[in-house]
Amino acid sequence: MASGTGERKQKKVYSKKIQKLRRAIVFTVVAACLIPTCICLILAVRYDRLRTKYEKSEADLNWYRDRYGDEKSILAASDSGDSGGDTSAEYGEIQWDYGVANTSGAQNPEDIEGTRYVYLTFDDGPSSSTGEILDILDQYGVQATFFVCGKPDSKYTDLYKRIVDEGHTLGMHSYSHSYKDIYASLDSFKDDFKKIKIFLYDTTDVDSIFYRFPGGSSNKVIKDDIAEYEKFLDEQGVTYFDWNVSANDDKAGATKETVYNNIISNIPKYKHCVVLMHDAADKKYTVEALPEIIEAIQAMDDTVIVPITEDTLPVQHIKK
Ligand SMILES: [Zn+2]
Repeated sequence: MASGTGERKQKKVYSKKIQKLRRAIVFTVVAACLIPTCICLILAVRYDRLRTKYEKSEADLNWYRDRYGDEKSILAASDSGDSGGDTSAEYGEIQWDYGVANTSGAQNPEDIEGTRYVYLTFDDGPSSSTGEILDILDQYGVQATFFVCGKPDSKYTDLYKRIVDEGHTLGMHSYSHSYKDIYASLDSFKDDFKKIKIFLYDTTDVDSIFYRFPGGSSNKVIKDDIAEYEKFLDEQGVTYFDWNVSANDDKAGATKETVYNNIISNIPKYKHCVVLMHDAADKKYTVEALPEIIEAIQAMDDTVIVPITEDTLPVQHIKK
């Protein structure tokens, strides 16, 4: 009798073990099927997105070739001083080549062949000019991109929020904007980057994924290899944007007219124009020129003004 009970118990334990083993086998088989399927699906989606981007880039390249000939003739033209794009960085003069810079730029999902996309960008804000800039953009129903710095003074808090609330893109332009601090080393750059990212998140709830190097990526202050800085931003899931059209509103002698002309005369050269302007208290002429700039762009055939989004392929200066 006792041995019969013992046997039953043993059988129970045994069958439980079998059940566990079965479950483990089923789980392993299911996991072995599901995991590769999921990986395949993710890779397929990624492949598809990359292919779309590639096809659009190629369409862009053909657009440039149709207008300006092949790359060799563009380079030859720029060597002979005919590039027409004498753009300077905010800090020191920079030399970059339109022929080799990644100016294919910018794809929105709604990208239409034959349409020119203009991205108005404002650096250095917020400032006492920001409110006025936002009013003008609102008046024309235009959305732009603001690459802002870290200004904890409470008088700026609402401006950061307005930028976001009114549908503009919020990008980072370093916390301190102090070249000697930010570019002292990669570590100082990282510290400053984290500061502005957290500051913007705390102020606006926006986790910005766009960056503009003070002075542009082609600035002469970074002594290290810029590739290390780019790699760091990439690891953070952040894309940096330079520009291919500059208002040159940070240059001595800038006026409302020079700002207008620098922008409007250069936009026709590109299918995707990232326009650099400044949002600063001492650059009122930029604000004064803005309504006419927007009107002139809106009057151009097949041209739209749009904010930078995560689908926008960046315009980046490439060092020679
Ligand atoms: Zn700046």
